[in-house]
Amino acid sequence: MDYSNDFVVIIDPQEHGVKPVSLEALFAARSLALAAAGSVTAVYPGNLPEDTGQTLIQHGADRVIVLKNEALTPYTVGAWLAALVPFLRFRAPQAVVLAATLHGKELAPALAASLDTGLATDCIALQMDSQLSVQRPVNAGKAIATLNFSADKPRIMTVRPNVFRGPGPDASRTGSVETLDINLEEPPLAMRVKEIVREAGDALDITEARVVVSGGLGMQGPANFHLLEELACVLGGTVGASRPVVDNGWRPYSNQVGQTGRTISPDLYIACGISGAVQHLAGMSSSKCIVAINKDPHAAIFSFADYGIVADVLTALPLLTEEFKRVLSVNV
Ligand SMILES: Cc1cc2nc3c(=O)[nH]c(=O)nc-3n(C[C@H](O)[C@H](O)[C@H](O)COP(=O)(O)OP(=O)(O)OC[C@H]3O[C@@H](n4cnc5c(N)ncnc54)[C@H](O)[C@@H]3O)c2cc1C
Repeated sequence: MDYSNDFVVIIDPQEHGVKPVSLEALFAARSLALAAAGSVTAVYPGNLPEDTGQTLIQHGADRVIVLKNEALTPYTVGAWLAALVPFLRFRAPQAVVLAATLHGKELAPALAASLDTGLATDCIALQMDSQLSVQRPVNAGKAIATLNFSADKPRIMTVRPNVFRGPGPDASRTGSVETLDINLEEPPLAMRVKEIVREAGDALDITEARVVVSGGLGMQGPANFHLLEELACVLGGTVGASRPVVDNGWRPYSNQVGQTGRTISPDLYIACGISGAVQHLAGMSSSKCIVAINKDPHAAIFSFADYGIVADVLTALPLLTEEFKRVLSVNV
C-alpha cells in the first residue's frame, strides 16, 4: 500500500473548542512532519466550533478535516471508530497522534487494533530519523523506554499532556478547513451517552494544570485541604492528592495522582505531607520542578524533589502562600 506523507492528529473536542493537549499533539506531529518533509492534518470528529479551524492551523495543522455526523457528538468510541477507521485506511498517513486524554487513551488502542498496526502510549519524546522512534516512561516511571516503530503504518501514538508545549499560535500560518459529511449507517453503539454530569466548581483539570499542589496523609484530614486550595489559587494551579487521601474520601478520585490515578507533568508539583511511594511517583515524576514539604527529613520524596522543606505542612503552607502572594502581587 502507498502511504501519504501526512501526519494525522485526532482532535479531542471540548465545549467551545479543543482540549489544550490536542494543540500539544499538533505541535508534536508538526515536528515529525518537519523532519519528514510531510504535512499535518487535524481531524475533528463532530461539529467544529467557530474559529477553531483557525486555531488548529495556527498551532501547526496544514489542513483541518471535519468529520460530520450527528452520532459523533458527544464522543463514543464506537461511533468515532466507525468514522475514523475507513478515513484513516483511505488517507494512509505515516502516523496518527492523539493526546493521552481519557478519550485518547480509549481510542488509540482501539484504532491500532482495527488498523492492525503498532501503538505507543503516553509518549514524552518523538524522533523521526530513518525510523520513527518514541520514548515513554515504564515501570511506574522508574525507567524510560525507547521504542522503534516497525515499517507497518500508520504508527499510532498518544502524547502525555504538558510535555509537547509548542511556542503558541502562529498567526501567519495558513491552511484549509474541509468538511466531510460521513455516512454512519448503523453506528455500532455499544453504549450511548445519556447525560454528562460535570463536577461542581470550575477546577482546572489536573492533567492540564501547570501547577499542582498535592496533599497526602500528612495533611491530617480534609479540613486542612483549604491550605492547598489557597496556595494553588495564588499560583494559578489546582489541587492533587495521594491515593489514601482519596480512599479516605477527603478528595475526589479526579484529584488522585499516581499509578492508579492520573499521570501528570506540570511545571511545578508541590507534594505536601506525601511520603513518595513508588506508586505515587509513577504519576508525577515527570513534573518539571518538584517541591516536597515533609516533617520527616528521611522521607523518600526528598530523593526525587528539586527543593525540599523539612517542616510541618500546617505551619509551612500558610507561610508559603503569604510569600507567593507578596512576590507575585496576588490579592486573593
Ligand atoms: C497497586 C497499588 C496502587 C497504588 N496507586 C497509588 C496511586 O495511584 N497514588 C498514590 O498516591 N498511591 C498509590 N498507592 C499507595 C502507595 O503505595 C502509598 O501507600 C501512598 O502513596 C502513600 O500516601 P501518602 O504519601 O499520602 O501517605 P503516607 O505514606 O502515610 O505518608 C504521609 C507522609 O506525611 C508526612 N507527614 C505526616 N504529618 C506531617 C506533617 N504534619 N507535616 C509534614 N509532613 C507530614 C509523613 O512523614 C509521611 O512521609 C498504591 C498502592 C498500590 C499497592
